[in-house]
Amino acid sequence: MADLNTLPPLRDVADRHGLRACRSLGQNFLFDENLLERIAGFGGDLTNAHVIEIGPGPGGLTRALLRAGAQRVTALEKDWRCVAALQELSQVSGGRLEIIEGDVLETDLPRLCTQPPVIAGNLPFNIATEVLIQLVESGMPIDRMLLMFQKEVGHRIAAQPGSRSYGRLSVLVQWLCTVETCLEVPAQAFVPAPKVSASVLCITPRQTPLYPAQIASLRAVTKAAFGQRRKTLRNSLGAAFDDPVKALEAVGIRPDLRAEKVDIEGFCALAREHAMHRPN
Ligand code: SAM
Repeated sequence: MADLNTLPPLRDVADRHGLRACRSLGQNFLFDENLLERIAGFGGDLTNAHVIEIGPGPGGLTRALLRAGAQRVTALEKDWRCVAALQELSQVSGGRLEIIEGDVLETDLPRLCTQPPVIAGNLPFNIATEVLIQLVESGMPIDRMLLMFQKEVGHRIAAQPGSRSYGRLSVLVQWLCTVETCLEVPAQAFVPAPKVSASVLCITPRQTPLYPAQIASLRAVTKAAFGQRRKTLRNSLGAAFDDPVKALEAVGIRPDLRAEKVDIEGFCALAREHAMHRPN
């Protein structure tokens, strides 16, 4: 009987289980086990970790996480066709792999764990941002996240003020988490190859948000400011404040700036101003 180190190639597993990639499920598989091992390595020491893997597919990253010594892996997969392939892996996992057939967007993740988990996944590009926002805004205790995104989305998450990629996603995620770009993965590494390449990010929730603010107000001011990012703040913030210039002056931000020049501290100050005048 095979063990974790003598498993058949992933491509053979996918073929044997008829796992032809399905576009509507965002399926672009990784079969290169050296690359998968590198990705798992960015998760750090997993020996005491409960990993929740979202979208394991035929199980490439799952194998790598188990080989990296993860104490426990819960693999959550929407495509029932992948479950049989994953069950084979479960049999050689020494009881460390549990498979759940389900949709991450409808699953109560906190119920799956008894300790803050490591969340890992090569997510389908079409739901990756939604999954990330749900995770970071849920307040669910999470140890760290090792997630793959379309490269351009990865840039937006990690972007700094002043860059073209800097926007709402950068502010909201970095307010709550530290973000590190670990690796870029070329499109040709996937089967089938998508049109764009990908980035692996390590995203670690902060103990407390970077600056005080209410999330609803931070959402409102960033939505207004970046919704019309080519306009100056005096013009774009009309959707969030009755008198944008007064609000900007109250927090010491020049009204002739554009949103991309305002750092997270500035947006949090604006959010506090918003909350004072428009309590939720
Ligand atoms: N991790 C595998 C790999 O690297 O080869 C597969 C990655 S593939 C980009 C995304 C996986 O997520 C697919 O297996 C797909 O079926 C699964 N998936 C898609 N939507 C999902 C959802 N809403 N909930 C859970 N899994 C989902």
